[in-house]
Amino acid sequence: MSAYASMQKDANYIDGTWCAADGGDVISVTNPATGAEIGTVPNAGAAEARRAIAAAEAAFPAYAALTVTERGALLRRLHAEIVDHADALAALLTAEQGKPLAEAKAEVLSSAAYVQWFAEEARRADGAVIPSPWPGRKLMTTRHPVGVVAAITPWNFPSSMLARKLGAALAAGCTAVVKPASATPYSGLVWALLAERAGFPPGVVNVITGSARAIGGELTSNPAVRKLTFTGSTEIGKELIRASAGTVKKVSMELGGNAPFIVFDDADLDAAVEGAMIAKFRNAGQTCICSNRVYAQAGIYDAFVAKLAEKAAALRVAPGDEPGSEQGPLVDMAALAKTEELIADAVERGATVAAGGGRHDRGGLFFQPTVLTEATADMRLAQEEIFGPVAPVFRFETEAEAIAAANDTEYGLAAYAYTRDLGRTFRLQDGLEYGLIGINEVLIVTPEVPFGGLKESGLGKEGSWQGLDDYLETKYTCVGGLTG
Ligand code: NAP
Repeated sequence: MSAYASMQKDANYIDGTWCAADGGDVISVTNPATGAEIGTVPNAGAAEARRAIAAAEAAFPAYAALTVTERGALLRRLHAEIVDHADALAALLTAEQGKPLAEAKAEVLSSAAYVQWFAEEARRADGAVIPSPWPGRKLMTTRHPVGVVAAITPWNFPSSMLARKLGAALAAGCTAVVKPASATPYSGLVWALLAERAGFPPGVVNVITGSARAIGGELTSNPAVRKLTFTGSTEIGKELIRASAGTVKKVSMELGGNAPFIVFDDADLDAAVEGAMIAKFRNAGQTCICSNRVYAQAGIYDAFVAKLAEKAAALRVAPGDEPGSEQGPLVDMAALAKTEELIADAVERGATVAAGGGRHDRGGLFFQPTVLTEATADMRLAQEEIFGPVAPVFRFETEAEAIAAANDTEYGLAAYAYTRDLGRTFRLQDGLEYGLIGINEVLIVTPEVPFGGLKESGLGKEGSWQGLDDYLETKYTCVGGLTG
């Protein structure tokens, strides 16, 4: 029996009932490290989505009426379920997604941390009493759950991306319909099991898998859904915003990135290399906030590249469940082919391969950690999300040049820089058009801070106090006639 058998649910969860797709169709889920089938999940469509929405709508009034103490207690039990089963959940995540077990465990614990954060935030959904400009009136705001929330999540962080949404929605008093990515549905379906065990009433959490278009079409057009929260590509995000316009839903969008990683001459070079390794190669480069473009200043360019290439070449590429694995496989053949294409395009336009450069000896979906030097702005990987283990290093001379190059993209999710200059640190804070900025640090995400992109990287924030705000509506009430 696998290490995750107890967490692997092959059915959808609608209104507190585990069910198959209406037609009995299934989707096969494979392990990217081996190509072997892990199992199958329902291939549901619009009809199942409609039922899930109806269940969430029916469950909403009673769930929204729970006290914040009661909702907080449910979330704390959900947190305990995640922590208690963290090893099995991590094994499940690695099996379907491919990342090293240590990264999977960190993701699962991050999910638990978001749930805990929102269990606490539930108590702070307060309003305000506003000083009145009129005599005899009281003006106040109160905050209320938005209603039924639809959540669509990606395959690269199939657990934690959902935690930020479900944690906030459930804390605010919303009910939810979740559609996880088809490549990694188990890490989504298991939230239904955990929510059931934690004691959430039927209909509060519904999880359906299957046709993105059919389910997405229903989630975006059904008037009972009052909010759509999506993490995924900018291209699909734009489609979903358009589709949600017909019923004027609130939308939260966590979309693609093209993160710059800037190393200045005055940086602690070893720390910068260490940071670049994590920011680039975590999850085999399949991370929305991973550095897509590395900029090194001319004075340290050669030394930086040499150290980075050495470290990249030494990364241990292996199936995620193999002890010591530091980089697992890519998600599918399309990802592998795109990574190859981007490298070929860069080399054709003058880049040099300093490490890696192609498929790994392990075969299948394994790819060598790659460093390219003399990258330039005309290369496709300067504008496109690579989503693979490739670090193109661009050369720059001045701070102004680096900031301008960093901002030369429609994306605005995360940016990193290494410098010891305090003045420059704050010029970067002002100048970089990004929602998340790490100076001399790359592991900067935690539930306490707002996570979200600028420009075409998204709308809204997840985590922090703002994460709850996005699931609440503000009502203003004026009570008059109070003069005696
Ligand atoms: P994707 O292709 O946009 O898919 C994301 C989700 O949307 C999946 O569940 C997918 O379902 C679903 N989907 C696809 N087409 C749809 C449609 N027409 N209607 C409704 N749903 C639809 O993205 P991905 O490849 O899974 O994830 C990688 C992308 O996510 C990257 O661009 C990355 O930067 C971004 N991302 C952003 C953040 C952030 O916080 N900003 C975090 C992680 C990832 P199927 O799987 O069934 O196709």
